[in-house]
Amino acid sequence: MLQALEFFHNKICEHLPKELLIHLDEKRVFAFEKESDKNIKDLKTCLASTVKSQRHWGEQVPISWTKLESALRKLQESSNIYPFGELLTCVLDTPDLGIKNEEELINALTFFHETGIILFRPKIKSTIILNVQWLVDAFKLIILDETHVKDIQNLEQFKKLNRHGLLSSELLIKLWEKDDFHQHKDILVDHMKQLDMLAEISKEMWYVPCMNKQDYSSATLKNCQVSSRLCFSFKFLPFDIYHRLVVSCINNLEMKPWEREDGICIYHTVSILICTDRIHRVLIGIRYNNESTHTEYPYSIEIQTNVTNPREINSHLTSKLKKDISENITLLTQGFSSWERHFHVGYRCKLGPFGGNQEGRIIAEEDLNGTEFDCHKCRECHVVNVKSILCYWEVRLFT
Ligand SMILES: [Zn+2]
Repeated sequence: MLQALEFFHNKICEHLPKELLIHLDEKRVFAFEKESDKNIKDLKTCLASTVKSQRHWGEQVPISWTKLESALRKLQESSNIYPFGELLTCVLDTPDLGIKNEEELINALTFFHETGIILFRPKIKSTIILNVQWLVDAFKLIILDETHVKDIQNLEQFKKLNRHGLLSSELLIKLWEKDDFHQHKDILVDHMKQLDMLAEISKEMWYVPCMNKQDYSSATLKNCQVSSRLCFSFKFLPFDIYHRLVVSCINNLEMKPWEREDGICIYHTVSILICTDRIHRVLIGIRYNNESTHTEYPYSIEIQTNVTNPREINSHLTSKLKKDISENITLLTQGFSSWERHFHVGYRCKLGPFGGNQEGRIIAEEDLNGTEFDCHKCRECHVVNVKSILCYWEVRLFT
């Protein structure tokens, strides 16, 4: 046990930002031995008390909902999904359940969705996924199953998935053919889209960001005009937030990955998407900044627009992008509720393409309020023309 505590303090706590330490408690450190019950009782007691302290614990759940939950569990034994319309008819035909109309059913299902019992989308009232593990298993086949590598027929398509995260409809059917997943392909994909696990590029192609292993080079932006770099800085940032941001720009802002002769411009830590006007492109990148000037907020998601020379960047469009992307990041980081501020907005002090040799440092938005700013963060101090940085993102200040 002493060893476990030592490991907890020296190896885990030592490496985490202090804001996260409030979620850890040495009373919840347990040491186990292989094939032994030692300390299991303590763990069980701890689990029970943690569960009881959860948000929904002890909430007044109407009796009708409890009855509905057991009905759903019964349905789950024979099927993984169930159409909303059919469930509604069933429920209205069963007065014993005590649910009188569609609205009451939606409220109950929304509660079960939030508590992780089912997956349900109240807005479109589509098919309900009764068995959440079933969807997880379907996704596991996309990201983990390597047995099909041996299948020569699909080798090219598998390479695309494994290297670029591009999943074709044909390969998906192949991956799911052994189970009943392929029969429910549209429903499963729809729910995965909703959960930002993948994005639809076309009817025949999806993007699964966690599979992308491609490296980005700033040479991609050769012969492009680039904007300054808008930065969202974080104390701590799960990689998943970056993936989900890219997926949500494709799904919700109608952007499309930029395709060039040598392939699609989506890389492991950088994605370049085309905006709806088909002229402007937006680069979304994630970085870990290890310079001493960024120790407090070392992670950044950075946004840079670009157009092909000699076109000029339209700052009305980029200002709108700033608003849309900020809103998306706010939504995606809502789970970080214990943090006073989720992220800082700032800009790189130097102009130049993402990943080039003119990186500069991140300057907080509130520090860029005059016409010039002396940057002491860079190795060589320099003067920043504030307008040259902000003109892309704060159009109201410069018109
Ligand atoms: Zn600088």
